[in-house]
Amino acid sequence: DASKEVRPEAGVPQMPAFDYTPQPYDGPKADEILAKRKKFLNPALFLYYKKHLNIVEGKMQYLFDESGRRYLDAFAGIVTVSVGHGHPTVVDAVVKQTKLLQHTTTIYLHHAIANYAEALAQRMPGNLKVVYFVNSGSEANDMAMMMARLYTGTFDIVSLRNAYHGMSPSTMGLTAHSTWKYNVAQGFGVHHVMNPDPYRGPFGADGKLYANDLANLIESATPGRIAGFFHETIQGVGGAVELAPGYLPAAYDIVRKAGGLCIADEVQTGFGRTGSNFWGFQNQGVTPDIVTLAKGIGNGLPLAAVVTTPEIAQVLAQRLHFNTYGGNPVCSAAGHAVLEVLEKEKRQAHCATVGDHLLHRLRALQDKHDIIGNVRGRGLMLGVELVKDRTTKAPAKEETLLLFEQLKDLGVLVGKGGLHGNVFRIKPPMCFSMEDADFLVDAMDHVMSKL
Ligand code: PLP
Repeated sequence: DASKEVRPEAGVPQMPAFDYTPQPYDGPKADEILAKRKKFLNPALFLYYKKHLNIVEGKMQYLFDESGRRYLDAFAGIVTVSVGHGHPTVVDAVVKQTKLLQHTTTIYLHHAIANYAEALAQRMPGNLKVVYFVNSGSEANDMAMMMARLYTGTFDIVSLRNAYHGMSPSTMGLTAHSTWKYNVAQGFGVHHVMNPDPYRGPFGADGKLYANDLANLIESATPGRIAGFFHETIQGVGGAVELAPGYLPAAYDIVRKAGGLCIADEVQTGFGRTGSNFWGFQNQGVTPDIVTLAKGIGNGLPLAAVVTTPEIAQVLAQRLHFNTYGGNPVCSAAGHAVLEVLEKEKRQAHCATVGDHLLHRLRALQDKHDIIGNVRGRGLMLGVELVKDRTTKAPAKEETLLLFEQLKDLGVLVGKGGLHGNVFRIKPPMCFSMEDADFLVDAMDHVMSKL
């Protein structure tokens, strides 16, 4: 219904056409839901927009609000809807499995879990062949931390500053981002090293120099042996910060010499999103000992996983380990369907093509607007950092908020993040098209031109 499209005024960029009519919605409106949220949910209300959005339907890369207005989703429910909202293959798989058997527990056999674990392991490089299913990224990282400590028989863990690894008390300890840290974070035995951030870090894009800080930390602040080293390959919450080239090979070398396991948090970067490789860590030519997966793995269903080698998995083989919902048949069916869609629709190659185009256009936008300090990322995992001054790199926090709202008014939903809240995060469902990319950049150009 064209009359419902977000077209506030003539002469503004227009969203690509999309032949779909959302279902009529007669449920409670935004104000009513807000009142309930205030009363019955977290009163701190972590809501994104000043005028709150009540999103009631999604179709591929588009969302619809209570009035039927369409929005381009460039954030995918925080990088979670990987293959598209309501993708028919995923929906069919979930419905079929739900009708047959919704849940037993992993104490019985089920083909959906076993088949899916096999398919997932086949997508992993090296000897990463044993899969544990859990329910969230935090849980996956908790488990990886536990495995590293059990396997190595030592305790110290290292992660990067500006990292986000979860909100459970122990993964909050791994996280190094003040917005997401309360004083209950269990950080005992966790150390944070210098972040290899090519834009803000002191060594620019020389990954090896940042790795010296890791070596120094292990030598000076641990018994010389560590249990593990956690990293994202492009920091998500931290503002799409791609680790400086050469960092991971150097860091892995240092960690392994200190007896530690290398743990890649692929919660945001996995499943072909970065375009150049199926897994983010492959972009630096390393193979971790443990990989943690969540978000895009289930296209929005609560599914997460830890993948490791048979040798490391032995530490749990000697113990009883159990998870009630982990890899339940419905979530496994969804995860398996996601893998099938990625393959069939060649989504990794698509992310590379659309991502390159976006990067090219965003860099041209940077030439035009001084407020853009840095454009970065890979595939459909991109960041645009806004600064008040390109020399001082002072974060343009207020401007980011303003532009963020104005983009929404034009029908474009992006993420925001970074330590200073001044980074637009562009991480749409992987079916995002070239036309969507052009519309997104035109919309950014439009709002920035009015600053
Ligand atoms: N790791 C990364 C890189 C994440 O981005 C997130 C969530 O944003 C997590 C872990 C935690 O995942 P969850 O919110 O599912 O616990």
